Order: sequence, then C-alpha cells, then structure tokens
Amino acid sequence: MFPDQVIFLCFAVVISLLGVLVLLYEFRRKRFEPEPTEDRVFRCEACAYVYTDDHDVDRSRCPECGLFNSPFVF
Ligand SMILES: [Zn+2]
Repeated sequence: MFPDQVIFLCFAVVISLLGVLVLLYEFRRKRFEPEPTEDRVFRCEACAYVYTDDHDVDRSRCPECGLFNSPFVF
C-alpha cells in the first residue's frame, strides 16, 4: 500500500464521517425546531424599523412611528 493511498483513505473516512454528522444534525434540527411562522415581514420606509404582522394584512402600521407600510419582499 502506497503512502498516498493511506492519506486518501484517511481523508475519505474523515469526509464521510463529517457527512454523516451533518445529516444527523439536519435530521435533529428539523425535528426539534418550530415551524416557520406565516407572518409577513414589514420594513418601515420612514424609520427603517423591521417588524412582522399577520400574513393576511396588506398594509401594516409601524409600531415605532405609525406610518403604514407594504410587506417587505425578499
Ligand atoms: Zn416607522
């Protein structure tokens, strides 16, 4: 067995172990994290305050300055 084969084998084992760990972490995260909320994100045009409101609201009042804002599109 050549030394570069041994190095490649060690590298492959480490990479596959990392892959298994990432898969386990993702699996656990999906099971325990809460579902993402359906709320809309608003960003105030006047004071740049970012806040959320119900998903069925078209225009929402800024809690900081009272200006009505449209939902923020990512
Ligand atoms: Zn505001």
